[in-house]
Amino acid sequence: MRHAGRAFLDLVFPRSCDSCGKCLDGRTERLCAPCAKALAELVGPDYCRRCGLEIGPYLLQDGYCPECAHRRPKLRHFVRVGRYQDPLRRMIIAFKSNPMLDRSLGDLLAEAVAHDPRTSSVDLFVPVPSATARWFHRGGRPPHLLARHVAVRLNRPVEIVVEFARRVRPQVGLSATERVENVRNAFRIAPGRRVEGRSICLVDDVSTTGATLRECARVLLDAGASRVVGAVLAKARPAVGPFDPGYVGEPWPAPA
Ligand SMILES: [Zn+2]
Ligand SMILES: [Zn+2]
Repeated sequence: MRHAGRAFLDLVFPRSCDSCGKCLDGRTERLCAPCAKALAELVGPDYCRRCGLEIGPYLLQDGYCPECAHRRPKLRHFVRVGRYQDPLRRMIIAFKSNPMLDRSLGDLLAEAVAHDPRTSSVDLFVPVPSATARWFHRGGRPPHLLARHVAVRLNRPVEIVVEFARRVRPQVGLSATERVENVRNAFRIAPGRRVEGRSICLVDDVSTTGATLRECARVLLDAGASRVVGAVLAKARPAVGPFDPGYVGEPWPAPA
């Protein structure tokens, strides 16, 4: 029904670019040519599949940066569509008030997950709990909509397994150390959900330091999950420097 409604709207109104809003000539594409080109540049660079650091391909060891190659973190693997910059950033911000963007953004994330061989064993997609007010999202919170879309595209189940155990502040504006403290023991397994032996992919819209994903992964592993990986639309650069004690060497160098 929802898709029938969308098809009808596409017929009545000309399609516009999902990022900049410019009218599109064709009915199949979702981005104008300049936005599509800019998006390809954000998606292209190689990155560490554990911390998200953008790094030259020759420095990656089996997909991981030199620092992560010898770690066995709780979040075993990390997939992202691109860097948190326009036009992806603009789409993610618009998604918070326009759930119809779940198709464009969900397709991008599904592609990123499907093309990563280390996610092939995933047997359950789980959205990361979102601290933003529920009323803000008609139709669902961004991580939930994304997880549902990716799961349907990849023909695997999705369940809301992790929930808040207490109130947390939004992570935006906090230092890396504050982010870790803000989400420490903030999550629990939702009543009646079981994760023993399951290989889980956590889904979120944006990851900055990775503190929320790591804490959710810890809760899932403590409850018996066999493996936890993370998939996000965008990796943001934390607004902290390497001298912040909570900094874990995640961001790429500042753009020139
Ligand atoms: Zn555009
Ligand atoms: Zn790394």
